[in-house]
Formats: sequence, structure tokens, C-alpha cells
Amino acid sequence: MSPASADTPTPDSHLIIDNVTKSFGSTQVLRGVSLSVHRGITTAIVGPSGSGKTTLLRLIAGFEAPDSGSIMLDGKVVADGTTLVPAHRRNVGYVAQDGALFPHLSVGENVAFGLDRRKFGGRAAVRKRVAELLAMVSLDPDYAGRRPDELSGGQQQRVALARALAREPELMLLDEPFSALDAGLRVATRKAVAATLAAAGVTTILVTHDQGEALSFADQVAVMRRGVLAQIGNPFVVYTRPSDRETAEFLGDAV
Ligand code: ADP
Repeated sequence: MSPASADTPTPDSHLIIDNVTKSFGSTQVLRGVSLSVHRGITTAIVGPSGSGKTTLLRLIAGFEAPDSGSIMLDGKVVADGTTLVPAHRRNVGYVAQDGALFPHLSVGENVAFGLDRRKFGGRAAVRKRVAELLAMVSLDPDYAGRRPDELSGGQQQRVALARALAREPELMLLDEPFSALDAGLRVATRKAVAATLAAAGVTTILVTHDQGEALSFADQVAVMRRGVLAQIGNPFVVYTRPSDRETAEFLGDAV
């Protein structure tokens, strides 16, 4: 186990979530979640549908505010009772399950939307970088000129990943990003994205239903259940020594 996978907050922690709660109406979705993630590691969050995984990612991204508790990124509070740093100031990439591309822009324009124009000023430089990003997600550069609705769901999802990678975020949040892809492409895309993120030292949090994905992709696995983290640790330990029967049953069922 990498020492960096311990979930105790330290000065090296990239992300520290402390006792966060969140309700929608009368439904308490997060009931006191604490999680610390070291820089550059990948955490997979697994858990039954409705347990609060997406809500937790949206709070980290800045699309929702916690009701109580705090979130720190890079040692700075981004959300607590008095502070709420907006999503676009958090240097965080987010890829939702459905990708959600801009329908009126071409594939290339969608990807280029994420680029820092100060770094990729000229049109040729933008085109080259867009082609590189499309290649990273196993898409032919020729797709740049197409419109999103000409692509399959799986292809659109890969464009969404390329757009998020274009921003070069320090923290990448992936919510079931590979679920729309068929089995072969899923593994290839996952490997390419994992390699890209690892090479850039990007801290990654992945929500997944796929145990193989959690085991192969993640340095640590967090099991979420009814709005709390039931267990967190090295993937092998979590899968071979679940902390309780409910976690064991979930992991056994989740294949
Ligand atoms: P998971 O990702 O584990 O499936 P979610 O975080 O998507 O869980 O949802 C947890 C619960 O919160 C669900 O019951 C869902 O219906 C509810 N929920 C999530 N977002 C909202 C919202 N914006 N308004 C009302 N309820 C919501």
C-alpha cells in the first residue's frame, strides 16, 4: 500500500472534507462525510445507487454548497459556513455520467473550450492540442469537425473527457465516465485516461459501479452507504476484508 493512501489529513492533503452534511428538502443525503485525499492519488468511490456519491462529487466541484462542515483544496477553505468558492475558481475537472457537451459547438470547439488560451493562442496550436486530446481518448482527430449529435453516446462521453483533460485540472472528478462505453472501448479508454492523469500527477476521484475499474484504477477505495463513508482503504484490503457484513454484501453484489 502506498503511504499516500492513508486517509488522515496531513499538510500534503490535496483535498480535506470535514464532516460535511447535505440535505435536499427533508432528505439528508450526506450525513457527516470526512475524507482526506493526498496529491496525485486516485480514489474510487463505490456504493449503492442513492448513497450520495454524485452529491459528494458535486460539492467538491462547487456545484452545490454543504449545509455544514468544510471542504479544503490545497490548504484553502473552498466551502464552509462563510466561504463558497465558485466552481470555475477551483481548478477542478468534472465529467458527469452523460458528458453534457455543448450541442451548438463542434467536437473540436467543445474540447478547445477547456483550453487555456494564453498557452494555446494560435489556431494551429489549438488544433494540434485538440487532436492530441482526442487521441488520448481514442478518437480520430477527424471527429473535431463533427457536431456532438453525429456521435454515439460513448463517443460523446470521450469528447467530454477530452474537454475536461484540456483544462489540465489538478483534481479530476469522474462520475461513472466510462459507463456508456462498450466493454472493449471501456478498458482501452480507461487505461488511456488513467495514464494521462497519472503522467500529469492529477489527483483523481472516480465514482464507479465497476469493481474491476475500482481495483485497477484506484490507490484507495471508499465505500459509501446512506450518506456516510462506511470504509476507506487500499482496494485489496477493502475487497478482501470488508469492515462489516453490509459492505461485504454490497461488494459481493456489485460485480
Ligand atoms: P448516488 O450517486 O450514490 O447514486 P446521489 O448523490 O445521486 O447518489 O443521490 C443521493 C440522493 O439524493 C438520492 O435520493 C437523490 O434522489 C437525491 N438528490 C440528489 N440530488 C438532488 C437534488 N438536486 N434535489 C433533490 N434530491 C436530490
